[in-house]
Amino acid sequence: MRKLTILGATGSIGDSTLNVVAENKEQFSIVALVAGQNVEKMQQLCVQWQPKYAVMATADAAKSLKALLAQTGINTEVMYGEDAMCQVAALDDVDTVMAAIVGAAGLMPTMAAVKAGKRILLANKEALVMSGQLFINAVEKYGAELLPVDSEHNAIFQCLPEEIQTRMGRCDLDNAGVSSILLTGSGGPFRYSDIATLADVTPQQAIAHPNWSMGPKISVDSATMMNKGLEYIEARWLFNTRRDQLQVVIHPQSVIHSMVQYRDGSVLAQMGEPEMATPISVTMNYPHRIQAGVQPLDFTRMSELTFMDVDYERYPCLKLAIDACYEGQHATTSLNAANEVAVDAFLKGAIRFTDISTLNNMVLSNVCTANSSLHSHDLESLLEVDTMARQLAGQLLKEHLL
Ligand code: NAD
Ligand code: MG
Repeated sequence: MRKLTILGATGSIGDSTLNVVAENKEQFSIVALVAGQNVEKMQQLCVQWQPKYAVMATADAAKSLKALLAQTGINTEVMYGEDAMCQVAALDDVDTVMAAIVGAAGLMPTMAAVKAGKRILLANKEALVMSGQLFINAVEKYGAELLPVDSEHNAIFQCLPEEIQTRMGRCDLDNAGVSSILLTGSGGPFRYSDIATLADVTPQQAIAHPNWSMGPKISVDSATMMNKGLEYIEARWLFNTRRDQLQVVIHPQSVIHSMVQYRDGSVLAQMGEPEMATPISVTMNYPHRIQAGVQPLDFTRMSELTFMDVDYERYPCLKLAIDACYEGQHATTSLNAANEVAVDAFLKGAIRFTDISTLNNMVLSNVCTANSSLHSHDLESLLEVDTMARQLAGQLLKEHLL
């Protein structure tokens, strides 16, 4: 039986993970659940799953959860804060950690799981984007097992040979005969909109993804295609790619979830319904396939599969991310931080949709000129870069955009 800690248990990936567990009850047990502030949802999960530990982000949230659980007689131990999250990610009686906290907040708990040598099911792409080589080095050093949950990376993973699947981050694509990885993206809700109208789109329109149902931050990232940019950086680290081995292709139907092109001309694609339960299931009991509770793909109901090149004028955030990927770790860490500030401001109605890329660009240009003073050789320096970029983003936001 696999014993799980779920980081980000109350979110969209948390939901899908617990649905997969419900489909395969005899194979998994839930040891710990971690979330931010959603006390009511955590209470329901504790009643349903009776984990040993539940960790919330703040003391207030933990206090409310304790009070609610006292009424129901559930004796889950309630804790709060980042240290407690790290603790439950590294417990001896846990072997598998779903890393699905959104944003930079997921880095330390995910790292704690890596350092404890766990099997990491990685959904929290921001953690890898902001720590890159350090993360991969830690996976190797502590003998952790890294499995990608992000649907594109999971698709690529499935299209690669086993010798690569078991060496995420340190694989040799040339040796496996791979010529190129094709990262597909739907283009989000505004792929056909007049570019001139993008300044006026509302948060509600931006989070209404045509194919996938996801949390608010990643939904906005999908609309700007910053999500594909973060995924590009994520793929660069997971699959150890060179620049000529990685490209983005728009595929509006989201039936193919990404592809691998081999030296001999073969292209392997992974297809399926756009439901995260599938990639989650692939990782949960790898290498064995389990029930995901997902409908089989019905090819007779599919009209056509189409593909297009990326228009960077429509998606400036994607261009920024690809450039940052080759600029260096300080650039990707800063871009990730700036983007979290920008998306948050957009979701609160403080800035326009098109201001997201403007702010990201401003922070990145500043950081890249100041590059010589920024270090990224250890986790502490990376966190300093992250903090600095957030402060800079906040300041630029006030001066130019609010
Ligand atoms: P979500 O907003 O639905 O859920 C986020 C979870 O993180 C919630 O449980 C929330 O309580 C928790 N959280 C937020 N701040 C926290 C903090 N400070 N401390 C502890 N927990 C905190 O987001 P989601 O859509 O489930 O995405 C989660 C991660 O998975 C993101 O990194 C996203 O990029 C990635 N991902 C999501 C999908 C998807 O389909 N939803 C697909 C691929 C990758
Ligand atoms: Mg994805």
